[in-house]
Amino acid sequence: GATIGIVGGGQLGRMLAIAAANLGYRVHIYAPDEAPPAGDVAAEVTRGAYDDLEALGRFAKAVDVATFEFENVDAGALAFLAEHVRLSPNPEALAKGQERVGEKEFVASLGGRTAPFRAVESLSGLQAAIAEVGAPGILKTARFGYDGKGQARLAGPADCETAWEEVGQTSSIYEGFVDFEAEFSILIARGADGKSLIYPAPHNEHEDGILARSTLPAGPVIADQVEEAAALAVKVADALDYVGLLTLEFFASAEGPVFNEMAPRVHNSGHWTIEGARTSQFENHIRAVCGLPLGDVSLSAARVEMRNLIGDAVNHWQDVLSDPAAHLHIYGKGEVRPGRKMGHVTRLFA
Ligand code: ATP
Ligand code: MG
Ligand code: MG
Repeated sequence: GATIGIVGGGQLGRMLAIAAANLGYRVHIYAPDEAPPAGDVAAEVTRGAYDDLEALGRFAKAVDVATFEFENVDAGALAFLAEHVRLSPNPEALAKGQERVGEKEFVASLGGRTAPFRAVESLSGLQAAIAEVGAPGILKTARFGYDGKGQARLAGPADCETAWEEVGQTSSIYEGFVDFEAEFSILIARGADGKSLIYPAPHNEHEDGILARSTLPAGPVIADQVEEAAALAVKVADALDYVGLLTLEFFASAEGPVFNEMAPRVHNSGHWTIEGARTSQFENHIRAVCGLPLGDVSLSAARVEMRNLIGDAVNHWQDVLSDPAAHLHIYGKGEVRPGRKMGHVTRLFA
């Protein structure tokens, strides 16, 4: 069969590779790590830096289509890759999701609601932003943040200096704190033919800035806001001419859905789809990238719950095996570290 190249070798790449193998494809991983979790289940691994154009060029020649599972790759390097092999989603979509200010402006231009925000480049810029936007709020690095890293919360102007010392960078964003009732995400799969399907929206609960749990179906607070959020997601995906699985995170607020950020890739809040949806986010991403028709995204059980196994929690995997409703996923990452996503458990309920 054909070979799919995946840039990035983490657990997302691992689950994409498994889905690809089920459809008869070979997978070739490109990652800088010595033993990437995705490498265990791939036919081939090229070890290379994300900005090593020569190695990327060789990788491009060795695969039939390419995609990525890691968005903190230099968009220029992926644009180079796209000159040598068909890359989905396109590198422009990746670039849009890499920088929080441009991303929010883009989504706002399509009619999306965002937290009030200002681009911040210095401590005095932060002080000006908090004066205009108000407090409480969050200072975030505009690029490369994940799992709540690179963020500092501010209760008021007095916190500016500490926050700036903690995470301030020349490209940062200050956001007003959204008074939300719950968080959810829209997982949208868009095929090469431009048709898209939207998964039932999970209710996402975070602990310490890290996703802890996704549950479906979401309760009424979220359910009432999904239609508006989904319509926005279609606009975003169409505007980017997106092919693959795209994720948008939202806050359900009294004013309606507030867009937080997007990820141009399969997403942790979609892991439940492996057993909990008729077609997983990983399979639909592979289908889209390979130009195949998309599969049914509806729930395969009445109720679904996904919990992350973060840090030490993975050591309790034996308890999971005795629960007949539970499906255990362990990512094969070596070292257990606090805050590190080591695996997840999905439970299906009739
Ligand atoms: P991810 O791992 O999802 O990529 P991230 O590091 O990019 O995370 P965000 O998604 O921006 O960070 O923020 C992490 C969490 O912090 C959010 O899910 C939400 O719980 C909280 N948060 C972020 N921004 C705001 C905001 N403006 N108002 C209220 N809560 C927020
Ligand atoms: Mg993020
Ligand atoms: Mg997020």
